[in-house]
Amino acid sequence: MIWYPYEQMKKMKTPYKIEDAKGVYLYTKDKKLIDSVSSWWSVIHGYKHPELNKAIEKQLDKFAHVMLGGLVHESAQKLSDKLQSWLPKDLDYCFFSDSGSVAVEVALKMALQYYMNCGEFQRTKVLALEHAYHGDTFKTMEVGDDEDYHFVLKAYGKSKNVIHIPTNIEDLEIAFEKYHNQLNCFIVEPLLQGAGGMRMYDISFLKRARELCDKYNVLLIFDEVATGFGRTGNRFVADLVTPDILVLGKALTGGYIGHAVTVANHKVYKGFYDDNPNHALMHGPTFMGNALACSVALKSIEIFESQDYMSKIHKIEEITKREMQGFSDYRIKEIRIMGACVCIEVHDSETIKGYQQFAYERGVFSRPFLNYIYAMVPYIISEDELIKVLGTMKEWFEINK
Ligand SMILES: *Cc1c(COP(=O)(O)O)cnc(C)c1O
Repeated sequence: MIWYPYEQMKKMKTPYKIEDAKGVYLYTKDKKLIDSVSSWWSVIHGYKHPELNKAIEKQLDKFAHVMLGGLVHESAQKLSDKLQSWLPKDLDYCFFSDSGSVAVEVALKMALQYYMNCGEFQRTKVLALEHAYHGDTFKTMEVGDDEDYHFVLKAYGKSKNVIHIPTNIEDLEIAFEKYHNQLNCFIVEPLLQGAGGMRMYDISFLKRARELCDKYNVLLIFDEVATGFGRTGNRFVADLVTPDILVLGKALTGGYIGHAVTVANHKVYKGFYDDNPNHALMHGPTFMGNALACSVALKSIEIFESQDYMSKIHKIEEITKREMQGFSDYRIKEIRIMGACVCIEVHDSETIKGYQQFAYERGVFSRPFLNYIYAMVPYIISEDELIKVLGTMKEWFEINK
């Protein structure tokens, strides 16, 4: 039987069984649902996209997968070329992996080893943010800061190797002054912390982080697994402030196949590139550079560009702001909107108990968690469909007064 994610299996309600999916819609046997979650924020083009399907079929006619150890293929080459030219500045070196968590692990390993290769063995610490989420593997749990995800780590006691700070410039400056010669990196979800509660913050924080990282020679890592490909209203937050290492996942393949990439800049790459075999990056997920994943990722980026997805995203933000304008309720703590992400935070999680079923009955799939009802819709959503998603959120509060 299936052991489901983030569930107490004893109490779990039966999941909705999906029989078909097309565009923004999921189909159960008797319901048609707008997927307001985009299958964990990844299905940016919607389901069963003809061009994405075709790209995979074309690759499948050749082969589904060959390993990247000692072998290479056209789709991986083309995707790394595309990312190299598409991503800002000298973020040029693409290390592929099969999931966001693994790609973050790779970024953290890169940062640690970068300084070992440079002979700075004392730089063992990672600076991270409170409420951060960077994945569910062990090191990413340690770097993350969410009781719900990593309370299991309590068995080890508090980590000596990760420092968590609140998201404000003052605490950032204090941390750098105190720990700078022990830090190998500062890792953040830039502008939007997703699984930690859709928390949004200002670009000035990242600008200051860049300055401090430069001043103290600490690597800056952007985990854009969730924020990448337009979600914040920026193509990448890395377009505004450039990190040394950028991690992409989720929407990379348009939600078709689990794949991710850790992109290093020239400085980081140079820290590994020499005659010493011990300075190599000793990592290699079995399915890195999977041919089906690379071919669909390439096509996904092509569509993102040619169909001007950034303007679609700006339109989503505009409609969302308009529809939520003036909406309030005594049970709501805050409504946050950034790009194609909207979140209603309530004071008491009891307030939103039952929302998922309520939305389901109205033709919207939603997955609220803790104190948050949110939507991260596919970018191809129509205005009417988006209004329906937002209207359902508002209706919940109006009906249950
Ligand atoms: C989802 C997510 C991850 C983990 O990605 P997986 O593919 O689920 O392993 C890491 N970082 C952020 C910011 C995420 O949102």
